[in-house]
Amino acid sequence: MNLLLLEESDFVSDARVVISGRRLSHVTDIHQASIGDTLRVGRVNGLMGAGVIQVLDTHQMVLDVTLTETPPVSLPLTVLLSLPRPKMLKRSLQTMTAMGVKRIVLMNSYRVEKSFWQSPWLAENKLREQLVLGLEQARDTLLPEVVFEKRFKPFVEDRLPAMLQGKRGLVAHPGDSGRYCPRQLTEEIVLAIGPEGGFIPYEVEKLEACGFERIHLGSRILRVENAIPVLISKLFD
Ligand code: SAM
Repeated sequence: MNLLLLEESDFVSDARVVISGRRLSHVTDIHQASIGDTLRVGRVNGLMGAGVIQVLDTHQMVLDVTLTETPPVSLPLTVLLSLPRPKMLKRSLQTMTAMGVKRIVLMNSYRVEKSFWQSPWLAENKLREQLVLGLEQARDTLLPEVVFEKRFKPFVEDRLPAMLQGKRGLVAHPGDSGRYCPRQLTEEIVLAIGPEGGFIPYEVEKLEACGFERIHLGSRILRVENAIPVLISKLFD
């Protein structure tokens, strides 16, 4: 945790917060902080700054906070992620959040296992936990928006064209039929990433018909959770 993320419910006044639970344990066990220490803090979807510990015991920590800094710049990127297995989903959400992605569409595709859509990790509070871990890791406060698109065809035909308006669409698909991943982009990108078994040809063709370009990362096929940071790092190097 490189930033103590403050929820609205933590504030007892404009400049004072009371923290308990996981964040208190982290500050005492990992940071081994004491009264008088200064921690980096940030308000969810708000400013960042410093918090000075006034009270610290096994039940609570009271901090006086000064919030003046804006959070880091977000990436001009929407990720369309074919729903991966829960373990990979959690890591992928944390990574995307830590890297500054602010819009994530969890979508269905042919090779997404149907049971993944029943996962308890898709509950709003469970998704939020992963996003918060990503923000704490990267020192950011702006929570990404996560939406579900459980049917590929109606999504791509009916809603994706509007989402793509004014943006460049890229579909990551292994093989040598596309171009190598472009670099140092500054425009708004919508990036589609396939499931563990990959997109089927029909899906790549549907995305291309919508205006997406096929891109690849060379001959090595990466796990979804690794393909995500590699693609983002190259696109926005
Ligand atoms: N056997 C599958 C295939 O050939 O499509 C492998 C899928 S890969 C494990 C999961 C997703 O990660 C892919 O659909 C793609 O979006 C992305 N990916 C992984 N390695 C890639 C590469 N070398 N080039 C482009 N995309 C890649």
